[in-house]
Amino acid sequence: MNTKMTYSLTLFVALSIVTGCSSKSESTPTLSPATSPTTQATATSTASSPSPSATTAASATPKTTPKATAGAVASPIASPAPSKNGDIQVVAKPESVTVLVNKMNSLPSSYEPTDLVYPDIPFIFAEKIEKRKMRSTAAKAIEKLVAGAEKDGIHLAGVSAYRSYATQKSVFQRYVLKDGEEKAKTYSAVPGTSEHETGLAIDVTGSDGKCAAEDCFGGTKEANWLEKHAAEYGFIIRYPKGKSAITGYQYEPWHIRYVGVDVSKDIEAKKVTMEEYYNAVPVSK
Ligand SMILES: [Zn+2]
Repeated sequence: MNTKMTYSLTLFVALSIVTGCSSKSESTPTLSPATSPTTQATATSTASSPSPSATTAASATPKTTPKATAGAVASPIASPAPSKNGDIQVVAKPESVTVLVNKMNSLPSSYEPTDLVYPDIPFIFAEKIEKRKMRSTAAKAIEKLVAGAEKDGIHLAGVSAYRSYATQKSVFQRYVLKDGEEKAKTYSAVPGTSEHETGLAIDVTGSDGKCAAEDCFGGTKEANWLEKHAAEYGFIIRYPKGKSAITGYQYEPWHIRYVGVDVSKDIEAKKVTMEEYYNAVPVSK
């Protein structure tokens, strides 16, 4: 595990500008075993290293019943479509603000948000390019969040927001050519499975640009502010500390995901991941 993680982190540092934080995804087969095989969010994502019982259980579990969320929102989750791409399911409602996208739940390759705009917030780069975009609702929310942080003396800036399927595909394919598909999967998101493709996620950092999408962002006053206030603006820290076996990603204090205020506050109150919240992965405690 250490070798692979070190490898992936090294690659990430080298290529972070291109790939954004999704390249930091852990090698799923190397994740520490959960208490029950069915708690492994990532159990089915890599065909070459099957986790026998978890594969069956996880892929057979319907994801349409948001048990934990009764009453939170009317129709909170995009239920998975029957179509499959290997072990990865294609979500049925990619445009849903609460769509669950992870290593097992992919956006359709044809999906492109129709309401992408440039949020009026500072970024750590000047160009008006794709990764500056967000869907309009999320863009309005991030503007309020950044303004709210300013009032508290916290200066935030965007690092990377939207990434198209085409961009993710070209990034991923470059890695495949370099390292082969199985290896590439351990550190780069398969096209369709990066949450940045929803237009609802953004990596943020302090306006000085230090520690952009890097571990050293954790514990900074900016990270602490986000941890405390993101939910007030409809965002969640999507990959919380200690939940990598469920989310498939190590702690990323900089990656926030818009889900709407009702859901974000509920998720925060319950102290769960998005996967747990929507019962996408049975979690035994
Ligand atoms: Zn990210």
